[in-house]
Amino acid sequence: MTTLDILKLCYLLGSVSFIVGLKMLAKPDSAKRGNMLAAIGMGIAIIGTILFHRNEEDESIGNLAWIFGGIAIGTVVGYLAAMKVKMTQMPQMVSLFNGMGGACAALIGIVEMDTHNPEVFGERFTIFLGLMIGTVSFAGSIIAYGKLEGKVKDFGSKFQQWFNNTFIFAILALLVYASLTPDFMPSSVIWIIFGASMLYGILFVLPIGGADMPVVISLLNSFTGVAAAFGGFLYHNQVMLTGGILVGSAGTILTVLMCNAMNRSLWNVIIGAFSGSSGGGKSTEGLSIREINVTDTAILCAYAQKVTIIPGYGLAVAQAQHACHEFEKVLEDKGVEVNFAIHPVAGRMPGHMNVLLAEADVPYDKLKEMEDINPHLPNTDVVIVIGANDVVNPAAETDPSSPIYGMPIIKANTAKNIIVMKRSMAKGYAGIENELFYDNKTRMLFGDAKATLEKLVAEVKNV
Ligand code: NDP
Repeated sequence: MTTLDILKLCYLLGSVSFIVGLKMLAKPDSAKRGNMLAAIGMGIAIIGTILFHRNEEDESIGNLAWIFGGIAIGTVVGYLAAMKVKMTQMPQMVSLFNGMGGACAALIGIVEMDTHNPEVFGERFTIFLGLMIGTVSFAGSIIAYGKLEGKVKDFGSKFQQWFNNTFIFAILALLVYASLTPDFMPSSVIWIIFGASMLYGILFVLPIGGADMPVVISLLNSFTGVAAAFGGFLYHNQVMLTGGILVGSAGTILTVLMCNAMNRSLWNVIIGAFSGSSGGGKSTEGLSIREINVTDTAILCAYAQKVTIIPGYGLAVAQAQHACHEFEKVLEDKGVEVNFAIHPVAGRMPGHMNVLLAEADVPYDKLKEMEDINPHLPNTDVVIVIGANDVVNPAAETDPSSPIYGMPIIKANTAKNIIVMKRSMAKGYAGIENELFYDNKTRMLFGDAKATLEKLVAEVKNV
C-alpha cells in the first residue's frame, strides 16, 4: 500500500464518518456520539494529510512545527472556550466559530493566488469565489455575534438595501472580469475583492433584525461550507470537498426550513428585505395586565386536564430545564396530560429548546412541533409560557406594521387559560410589545423561571 493509498483511505474514513455523524445528529439520543464521530473523522483526515500527503516532487508536508503549533493553540483555545461557555452563550460561540471557518476559507484564497496557476480561468474563479464567500461569512458572522451579544444594534434603510444589492452584483461582476482577465490589477485585485466582501458581509447582516436572525445565522453557516468546498476544488482534496458540501447543503436545507418556519422567502432574506427590529407594532399604552401567584397557578394546573408548556429563551437564561421537567412530572402524577410546544426559532439557535429539554431528559415524544400542537390549543386548559415572548406574540398574525408580521407563532392566545412566566414586562429579541400579556385570559407570574418553577413544584405536591 502506497502513502497515497493510505491517504485516500483516511479521506474515505473521514468522509464516511462525516456522513454517519451528520445522520446521528438528527436524533437527540445519538447526537453527542454523532458529533464525536465526525470530529474523529476530521482528526483522521488532518493527521492523514500531515503524514501521508506528497506533492508532485514526492515531498511530504513541511513546516511541521507551525502546523502542530497551530493545532495545539487551536485545541487549547477551542477546548477552554467550549468548556467555559454558558448554554445561553452557545449561539454566540457558534457564530464566532462559523466566522473562523469563513476566515480560513478566505485566507486560502489570499494565500493560494500566488501558488496556484492564476492563468487558468477555473482556478482564478474558484479562488476568488471562495475568498468572497468566506469573507462575507466571516464579516457577517462577527456582526451576528455582536447582535446576539446585544453589542451591535440594527442599522438599515431603504437606501442601504438598494446599495447592498447593487454592491453585491458589482463584486460579482468584478470577480468574473478579474477571473477572465489574468493581467487585470494582478497584485491588488485579491485585496479589493477581500475588502469589498468584508464591507458587504457587514452591511448584509447589519440591518437584519425583527426575529429574522436565525435564518441569517443558518445562511452564513452554509456560506462557510460552500467556501470550504471551493478550497476542496482548489486542492483536489476529497475530504475538504465532502465536508464543505455537507455543511453547505445541510446549512442550506436548514435555512430553507427556517425560512418556511418564519414564513420568509430565502431571496428576501438574502437581499435584506426584512430590516430593522424594534419599532413598528401597536402600542399597549392604557392596557392593563393581571397577575397571579404561585399557589393559584399550582391549583389551576393541578386541576387541569391538559397543560401545554411553551418554553422560550428565558428558560435557557434561567437554566430552568430540570425544574421544568420536575414540574411536568408532578403534574403528570396528578393525572394531568402535559406537552411541550416547540417553536422552531424559540431561544437563540436552531433546536435550542430541543437541546435544552433533552438535557433534562424530557421524553422526546412530549415535544410537539408548532404546527402539530396549534390545532389542540383551543382544547387546552392551561398554557404556561416560560420565558417566551416573540414566538407567542399575536402581532405576527394581526399587525401588518409589526416587524415579525407573517412569522407563524404558537397560538397561546387560543388556549382557555394563559400563564406567562417572566421577570418583568421587558420585550423579547424583536424588541416589540406583546399584546398576549394584556389578554383577558392571561395572568402574569413574575419572577425568574427556575425559582418560580421550583416553588410551583412544591405547591403542586401540596395540592
Ligand atoms: P424572546 O427573546 O422573544 O423572549 C425571551 C423572554 O424571556 C423575555 O421576554 C424575557 O423577559 C424572558 N426571560 C429572560 N430571562 C428570564 C428568566 N431568567 N426567567 C424568566 N423569564 C426570562 O424569546 P423567544 O424564545 O420567544 O423568541 C426567540 C427570539 O429570538 C425570536 O425573535 C427569534 O427570531 C430570535 N432568534 C432566534 C434564534 C434561533 O435560532 N432560535 C437566533 C437568533 C435570534 P424578562 O426579561 O421580562 O424576564
